[in-house]
Amino acid sequence: MTVQGEIILRSDREKPVRQGHPWIFSGAIDSLAQQPEAGQIVTVVSKEGEFLARGYWNERSQIQVRILTWKDEAIDEDWWRTMLARAIESRASLRPTDGTPYGMRLVNAESDFLPGLIVDQYGDWLVIQALTLYVDMNKSYIADLLMELTGARGVYERSDVDIRGKEGLSSAVGVLAGDNPPERIEIVETGGVHLLVDVAHGHKTGTYLDQSENRALVGATAASIKTENPALLNLFSYTGGFSAHAASRTAISVTNVDSSGDALALGKKILAANIDKASADAAEYVQGDAFEALRKFADDGRMFDIIVCDPPKFAHNASQVDKAARGYKDLNLNSFKLIKSGGYLFTFSCSGAITADLFQKIVFGALADSGRQGQIVRHLSAGPDHPVALTFPEGAYLKGLMVRVF
Ligand code: SAH
Repeated sequence: MTVQGEIILRSDREKPVRQGHPWIFSGAIDSLAQQPEAGQIVTVVSKEGEFLARGYWNERSQIQVRILTWKDEAIDEDWWRTMLARAIESRASLRPTDGTPYGMRLVNAESDFLPGLIVDQYGDWLVIQALTLYVDMNKSYIADLLMELTGARGVYERSDVDIRGKEGLSSAVGVLAGDNPPERIEIVETGGVHLLVDVAHGHKTGTYLDQSENRALVGATAASIKTENPALLNLFSYTGGFSAHAASRTAISVTNVDSSGDALALGKKILAANIDKASADAAEYVQGDAFEALRKFADDGRMFDIIVCDPPKFAHNASQVDKAARGYKDLNLNSFKLIKSGGYLFTFSCSGAITADLFQKIVFGALADSGRQGQIVRHLSAGPDHPVALTFPEGAYLKGLMVRVF
């Protein structure tokens, strides 16, 4: 490792770094004792010259240093091997032991103390996202280490995310190590539900692994429904994972709503992989806007036992919170109106800028306007393969509520 630069921190901005927050913004920097090069390892020191942390530098980003360690240690291939192994081993209790192919996040960036790196496992393949310049520059040996540590057949890169632009990077997609993954990788989720994942074209690294536990919860809830013709409405369904879990547990008619025709088409195949053909053929697929679909269902007098509402990120930053809140309110209000008495709304927000508190207030406002009664049965979040470092509350982006409605 070559330490290229030394960053002197302002005294009044030392505390978060000492307490373990991994980001240093330009405003916290007093001066540069040595000018680093973009993407290089730097040492962070106090004004008195005391060692504070070591991380990587990118002047182009608002977050100029991302910290890798608070110890005075070398950041080299051995360090990476140790940290990757730690992240992988920390998930040991979550892995099925019978050889079933599973999906799991192995490295959750800042929350696994490896800023800028996402690694997801789908069966025998890994998919990585390099979100920062330093990780991008080092991704080839990181991929080789991951092959060595997991025995994976290949590592595929899906670094096609907007935030790379803030680091001065363009998209990068393709095989980084080993074999090319098949067009669709099959994974099995809790309860034996089969999902098909298209890692080359799917959303994120292929699918939404963060909702895996919540999908199983929707499955278990569906199995408890005792009404005559149970029905599930899956808004923003993507490939219909929630629906597959519900339908595999009980006879329930499912309606998937998504703006993406490709997602709905793969959703059809996923449902068919889990239930008999006649039931799969009976499922309803609505390609279009979920806000409009809700209004149409109300006009048609449709009612559902379970509604899942899992929209994309509405607020990308603090300035978009008000507009996002109106969007969530509208969706939740119109969803509450369509739920049979004793039924459930599973409602989510993946906007980091919307706190769990604020989200609950929005859902409360929607419930009040709907004239219904509701109980929070559970507070929901991403699963245990998406840990959140206590020092990095920004990592807790996914929040949700399971609400029973009367
Ligand atoms: N619940 C899914 C993930 C949903 S991600 C799962 O568990 O896998 C959000 C989805 O919303 C994406 O599939 C995207 O195509 C879709 N989407 C975005 N805007 C939409 C809109 N206005 N109406 C309907 N679907 C939309």
